[in-house]
Amino acid sequence: MSLAGKTALITGSTSGIGLGIAHGFAQAGINVVMNGFGDPQDIEQERAALEARGVRAIYDGTDMSQPDAIAGMMERVAAEFGRLDIVVNNAGIQHVSPVEEFPREKWDAIMAINLSSAFHTSRAAIPAMKAAGWGRIINIASAHGLVASPFKSAYVAAKHGMLGLTKTLALEVAQDNITCNAICPGYVYTPLVEKQIPDTAKARGLSEEQVINDVLLAAQWTKKFVTVEQLAGTALFLCSDHAENITGTSIAVDGGWTAA
Ligand code: NAD
Repeated sequence: MSLAGKTALITGSTSGIGLGIAHGFAQAGINVVMNGFGDPQDIEQERAALEARGVRAIYDGTDMSQPDAIAGMMERVAAEFGRLDIVVNNAGIQHVSPVEEFPREKWDAIMAINLSSAFHTSRAAIPAMKAAGWGRIINIASAHGLVASPFKSAYVAAKHGMLGLTKTLALEVAQDNITCNAICPGYVYTPLVEKQIPDTAKARGLSEEQVINDVLLAAQWTKKFVTVEQLAGTALFLCSDHAENITGTSIAVDGGWTAA
């Protein structure tokens, strides 16, 4: 079955992985709801670039840490498109610090944005997916959903939680032609990774170059960053008919990191 004409919400798609998935989806003819923060002019430019691929693209700036605002966004999407076939829960932030210095408000923000938002979008999207008899929920977790690294207590906890949510939702909707899976990327060179290099350097007493080679790519056996295009391809595969019986699982796209 062609994916053309379907509609996807991709949270946190003004940048990085989410934006890459938005472009991959638009290329496949899927209408896109963009979400995330950023400069309004840059966002409008990206939205127009998505539409230039021949689909409809709208932007919603909902703060994914706010459950009521998420509910409002889900209603707006239903009103605009009359359908929502695919949800990619991708919005995420990071904070790197030893646990005893980890700011409480950062813990709460990471839990809300990286984990709880996926519950709120899925909760709102599933009734219409059930009615339509088809749906795909894709949670962008992380290699840190499978293994830990020091100084990322909230992020690792939220991403492990994302895999638990993925499995549970998959079971609940298994007979409704809806699948729910997680993608666990290794390091992708996006603004999120770029921003944590100075903090990791500080926390570990290393130079920024040492952080890239000896920390970020140390566990990535291919010695290559994952690309957003590779993740868009994985997400499209999970939307395809070939993936109809893949549900409740996670696909690591991590250059061998979690194999070791
Ligand atoms: P990024 O910083 O480039 O993009 C994050 C996106 O989330 C942006 O669009 C940002 O505006 C949005 N966002 C942040 N807070 C938000 C909020 N409160 N409400 C709505 N949107 C919000 O980061 P990225 O690297 O593209 O990360 C995307 C996802 O992939 C995250 O969940 C991240 O944990 C995960 N991930 C990234 C990597 C990596 O190496 N970059 C690896 C594994 C997993």
